[in-house]
Amino acid sequence: MRQDHLAHALLFHGPEGSAALPLALALATYVNCERPGDADSCGQCPACQKAAKLVHPDVNFVFPLGGSSKNDDVADTKVDHLKAWRTFVFDNPYSNLHDWAVAAGFEKGLNISKGVAKQIIQTLSLKSFEGGYKTMVIWCPELMHPASANALLKILEEPPEKTLFLMVSHHPDHLLTTILSRTQKILVRAFTDEEIIPELLRRELCAETTAHQIATLADGSLREAFLLAEDAKDEHTSTVRDWLRVCYSKDINAICSIVENLAALSKENQKTLLLTAINVLRECLLDKSQLTRMMRTPESEREFIQKLATNVLTSEKINQIYEKMGDAHYHIERNANSKVLFMELTFAVARILR
Ligand SMILES: [Zn+2]
Repeated sequence: MRQDHLAHALLFHGPEGSAALPLALALATYVNCERPGDADSCGQCPACQKAAKLVHPDVNFVFPLGGSSKNDDVADTKVDHLKAWRTFVFDNPYSNLHDWAVAAGFEKGLNISKGVAKQIIQTLSLKSFEGGYKTMVIWCPELMHPASANALLKILEEPPEKTLFLMVSHHPDHLLTTILSRTQKILVRAFTDEEIIPELLRRELCAETTAHQIATLADGSLREAFLLAEDAKDEHTSTVRDWLRVCYSKDINAICSIVENLAALSKENQKTLLLTAINVLRECLLDKSQLTRMMRTPESEREFIQKLATNVLTSEKINQIYEKMGDAHYHIERNANSKVLFMELTFAVARILR
């Protein structure tokens, strides 16, 4: 990544869920870094820190907008959109256009409007704030209004000095050929399973066995992998919910049938399930202690936790069940007979609950 050989317009293109946007952002950071290494920015200097927060004054962003249900006041919404964009990129830079529409609350078709080219040209005609490169990151340039795209051709051909266009597209085939021919194309490949698995584990999204399964299904997309991990987590929470209901019901047939199901899970999944149950108990305790702002459960699961905490569980009961779950986790780790273990555990929890 030597600056002196850098083309002034680059197109990062790759499949959805690839690192196309993160790579463009990394380059925008690198060219402004005050102490760059051979291959990467320092990550420490003020320029890097501003770039990491997406607030570097010389790194500009253009992204599609759409009609929203709110009443738009132009100046206000522009600021709001930039704020929404930053949050969106922080949360998951591997997201796609649909995710952006949902995150920003757009209801109508997204596009980069006619007037954008004028803004871009104006911005780039000003001197850079910090003396380095003036960078224009354009996400989904294929959604640019043709009038805007055509108005950009000249500046793409003969850009002001130290200007850098970084376009990021998942569908470069939808770009005007006149734009395409003026950019240097950088193909960003899909992720490999070996890259996806550690990323899921680093973010503590799932257990290792699940991470392997998810990586196979995600087909190189980190976006897809995150969604699958989210689903797997929801599934565990709903199993815990069913299990606690059965414990409370004292229905022997239901108890036997859920124990069969739990015993049939893989050891990894059994451990994850117990940790999920422990987490549910922790959340109940927080709810009881009115520490709701420390709770991590999504809104959709709150009702179940609140009911459990209010109607069924005392703090003492929570502690007792907590201990049983912790013991069970310890014994699964040491290869206990899972059918016996879950049967005993379920009866113990049922006794505590009633
Ligand atoms: Zn730096």
